[in-house]
Formats: sequence, structure tokens, C-alpha cells
Amino acid sequence: MKIWLDGNLVDEAAAKISVFDHGLLYGDGVFEGIRFYNGRIFRLEAHIRRLFESARAIVLDLPWSQEDICRFTCETVAANGLSDGYIRLVVTRGCGELGLNPYLCPRPSMFIIASTIKLYPEEHYTNGLALITCATRRPAPGALMPQVKSLNYLNNIMAKVEAIQANALEAIMLNEQGYVAECTGDNLFIIKNGVLLTPLISDGALDGITRGVILELAASLAIPFQERSLTRYDIFIADECFLTGTAAEVIPVVSLDRRTIGSGNPGPLTRRFIEGFKQLTHSSGTPFS
Ligand code: PMP
Repeated sequence: MKIWLDGNLVDEAAAKISVFDHGLLYGDGVFEGIRFYNGRIFRLEAHIRRLFESARAIVLDLPWSQEDICRFTCETVAANGLSDGYIRLVVTRGCGELGLNPYLCPRPSMFIIASTIKLYPEEHYTNGLALITCATRRPAPGALMPQVKSLNYLNNIMAKVEAIQANALEAIMLNEQGYVAECTGDNLFIIKNGVLLTPLISDGALDGITRGVILELAASLAIPFQERSLTRYDIFIADECFLTGTAAEVIPVVSLDRRTIGSGNPGPLTRRFIEGFKQLTHSSGTPFS
């Protein structure tokens, strides 16, 4: 496997980061997870735009343009000879002295991995996922900006541990007010009386690229939608529920905390979103070679 690291495509074994990199020492950095299908990278520009916005929000100046990073990403995928897969693009604060001060890190580091990913077993795309609500809360936006896709995932990892210990594959995370924010690595949607609903970003959700695609699809399918605060009650009484994420794509949810949602099977509108999403991923994107 060839990894893009600070300007060079190097062998996996040579792709190393210093122990003085603040990305490792403090989780100081940002990243993106991106998919490619059929020789084309899906929503590449949107991911790179979000990367720049995340970087800007944490005062991390990138010494590359968005076009440069799109080009490096395409080169990395092409160098690995894959037609379908997953890209992990990471920018760290770079090496500096011990101590938090990011201004003592002269240059960020970037690496790009093009590989594959399988988040959930196939059967769950047909039968749906069982979710739990975890006790780990999303931090308030004033503590950690939910839009920033940073290298600080400990909050999500602690929630994932709760899910695994409860024998579930995903967990719903609430914010300090008790509103639904998102899952550990996916955004959440419900459908009630034909209306598509999803939590506000300000309730603690990442502004997911897949979430955005679903809102575009809803508009094109003339399905009304609303972004608003949701509680567990809204999920218990929903007709349908599904999760979205670059790695997960669109996956139905059929229960929360062992209570059945809707009919207990993936719903008809969920199926339309899954189908519409699949069509988009296979008919659009940036060619990489
Ligand atoms: N929320 C979190 C916490 C995530 O890490 C992700 C990405 N895995 C998502 C939502 C989904 O975002 P996207 O559709 O951009 O992958």
C-alpha cells in the first residue's frame, strides 16, 4: 500500500509520524473520511471544503490549496490500484515542543491512506440496526465545536464502548440538555408522518456530508424535511429511522433501547433514500485516473 505523506507517496512501512507530533500528543488536528466508488471519489470537494473549515476553526493554517489536496487525494487512490474504497485524510498540527502551544509547531503534517472499510455486517442493511442510548453525553458546542472533525474522538469512543458492552453496533448520544445529537460515527434521521427530521448541528451533530446528500435527495424526491431538536420520545414514536455516514452510507434502524421503531422493519422511505444514495454514489464523483 502506498501512503501519501507530506508530499511523497511512500510504502506503508515507511509512513511514520514523529512522537512529538501534536496530533498524537494532544489530538490536535483534523481529518476526513471519504469514499470512492467505481473509479470516482464521492463528494471530494465537499470533504476538502469541510477539512479547510475544520482547520480554520482550530487556527491551523494549511500550506496547501483545496485544489492541491484534491489532486494529492486522487494521486493516492490511483497509486493503490483500487476502484472502490475508503480514504482517510489526516492533517496534524505537526511537530513541536512538549506543551499545548500550537504556535510552536511550525508546519502541519498530512497523510492520506486509500484502503477499504466495512463498518456494519451486510445483514443490517437488510434487517436494520438495534441502537442503544448511551450515558456518555456530547460535549456542549461551546466546549468542543461539533462541526470540527478533529482528532479528538475520545468522546465518541467512550460511547462506542458502551454500545459494544451492550451488544449493540451503534449508540445514540444525547447532549447535556437531553436532545439527540448523533450516533458515535453517524448522523441520525427519523421519518414521522411523511416528514424527514434530523437533529440540528447546534445540538451537537457533525455537519455530515452524507447528511447533506440526504437533505438534497429529500428535496429532489419532494419529501418535506426539517432540522430540529429531537428527544428519545421522537425516536420511540417515529415511523422510520436511519443513520448516515461516509463509511456506513445509509443504514436502517429498527429499535432503540430494545423498543421497536415503527413496524420493526426498514421502512419504505428509508429504502428510497438507500436506493437514491446508491444511485448517486455510482453515477457521480471526481475521476481519479
Ligand atoms: N458524526 C460523526 C461523529 C462522524 O464521525 C461522522 C463521520 N464518520 C458522521 C457523523 C457522518 O459524517 P459524514 O457523512 O460526513 O461521513
